Amino acid sequence: MGRWSEDLFGGDTDLDEASYISEDAGIELYMYEIDPEYPDERAKGLEATRAHLNSGVLDKLFVKYAAAKATAYSFVSKELRLVFLGAAALAMRVGATISPDQMALLRVTYTKIDVAPKYSLPFGDTGFRAPAKKQFETALRLYKNDGSPYNFNAVRCEADGCGKSQHDMPEGQTLMKCGKCKLEHYCSRECQAASWPDHKKCCKTPEKREAEEKRRWGNGPMMMNV
Ligand SMILES: [Zn+2]
Ligand SMILES: [Zn+2]
Repeated sequence: MGRWSEDLFGGDTDLDEASYISEDAGIELYMYEIDPEYPDERAKGLEATRAHLNSGVLDKLFVKYAAAKATAYSFVSKELRLVFLGAAALAMRVGATISPDQMALLRVTYTKIDVAPKYSLPFGDTGFRAPAKKQFETALRLYKNDGSPYNFNAVRCEADGCGKSQHDMPEGQTLMKCGKCKLEHYCSRECQAASWPDHKKCCKTPEKREAEEKRRWGNGPMMMNV
C-alpha cells in the first residue's frame, strides 16, 4: 500500500477502488490509459467504455453506491462515499453522461468525505487529500457532460473557482507559470493575483526547494510518502 501523489488516483487505495468499481461496471475503467500517442486505441477504448456506461450501467452504479451511503458503519460509509465519487470520476474520464440529479447528489456527497492530513498511515488513507478534493471540485464545476472526456491529469489554473486547462484557453494564449516557483499555473494575471495571498506561503524558488530537499534527505535516494 502506498501513495505517490496527493491527487485523485495517486494511491493504492484509490486504484483498489477503481478496480472494484470496474468489476461492478463490467468494464475496465482506469488501468486502460487514454494515451494520445495511440489515437486509434484511444478512440476505440473511449467510445466503447462511454457507450457501456451510458447504456444504464452508470445509473445502476449510482443507485447502488448512493444506497450504500446509508450504512450504519461509519468507516464503511466513508469508504463507500469515496467509491461512489470514484465511480463519478471514472465516468468523467470517458465523458459518460451524468444526469442532473446525479450531479446534484455528487455536489452534496463530496463535501462529506474526510480530508486526510498531509501524512497519514496507509490503512487510514481512505479519504481525500486536499489537492484531490480540489481536483474533484473543479471537475464538478467544469465537467461538460456532452460526451467529452474530462482530463484529471491536465495542468490547470490553480486559482480557486477557476481550474482552466490549456484546452480551455482562447486561441494563441497559454497558461502561465508562477515566475518564482515555476510550479503553479495560472490562466491570467487576475487569477495569479487572487491566489497569491495563499500561494506565497508555500512559493519557493527551485534552488531553495532543492536545498531543502538535500538538507532533509542528504544525497541518498529519495523516498516518498506524500
Ligand atoms: Zn509560486
Ligand atoms: Zn484562472
